[in-house]
Amino acid sequence: MDLGLTGRTFVVTGASNGVGLAIAAMLLADGANVGVCARDAGRLRAAVGGLPATAGARALCLGCDVLDGGAVARFVGDVAAEFGGIDGVVNNAGQSLMRPLFETTELEWTEQVQLKLFSVLNTVRAALPWLRRSPVASVVNVNAILARQPEARLAATGAARAALLNLSATMATELAPDGVRVNSVCLGLIDTGQWHRRYEAAGAGQPYEQWTAELARDRGIALGRIGSAEEVAFPIVGLLSPRSSYVTGASLDIGGGVSRYV
Ligand code: NDP
Repeated sequence: MDLGLTGRTFVVTGASNGVGLAIAAMLLADGANVGVCARDAGRLRAAVGGLPATAGARALCLGCDVLDGGAVARFVGDVAAEFGGIDGVVNNAGQSLMRPLFETTELEWTEQVQLKLFSVLNTVRAALPWLRRSPVASVVNVNAILARQPEARLAATGAARAALLNLSATMATELAPDGVRVNSVCLGLIDTGQWHRRYEAAGAGQPYEQWTAELARDRGIALGRIGSAEEVAFPIVGLLSPRSSYVTGASLDIGGGVSRYV
């Protein structure tokens, strides 16, 4: 099925690893141009630069911290100038903070709120003039099941995630008259750099595969395993596609059945 993405241009933040990298790979393979960023530009170019592309699609890789509004405006402007417009944004850059509630400092709370809210606000604000001109404009905010299902030692990240879910719904309502769809995906446990870092920090003394299998069992993931970045990328690219033209203000869980709410 043609997803209608060929020749379109998408901004993907945090694309040097994990979910963002898998999204960039899928878009390029589908013939869409991507403007991608991460703070470490060298690692980003090494990861995205060699990805195969079809139909003449290209990637523009730029170093940018999504918390820096000025840098985001320059990054998004450079992407629009390079490709002649922007048709969609995936707000993916981010990470979580594991810390007991009353050991979380005020600064860490502020950083989590900034990372979850301003990374999205900065990027969408910068892209909006081009999104308003696109006939297929779409924003996907990468969120976490944690937004609805809180967990111990993730208070600041969870609260900021819940706020982002709420913000995304408002954004969908306010931007609908401009023809810009806005949706959220809420991830469970996905096999990316985040979990490799936690595995190393845990010093578990067992192979990574065994450690993640036990993690999946302990968390009660219905499918019995953690997910891959590619399994996340497909539903996100599907939401970007104009074939999802009647989907806005929605939130899709991608967690292999880890969520416990209905
Ligand atoms: P990874 O740690 O594998 O990759 C994160 C990417 O974001 C990297 O490219 C990193 O590059 C970039 N990044 C981080 N901070 C910034 C910043 N301030 N500005 C620009 N780029 C940044 O993460 P995942 O692929 O696992 O996660 C992707 C998204 O999904 C994140 O928002 C994450 O919180 C969310 N998520 C992931 C889950 C999981 O289990 N993996 C679960 C729930 C949510 P660099 O360091 O060079 O900036």
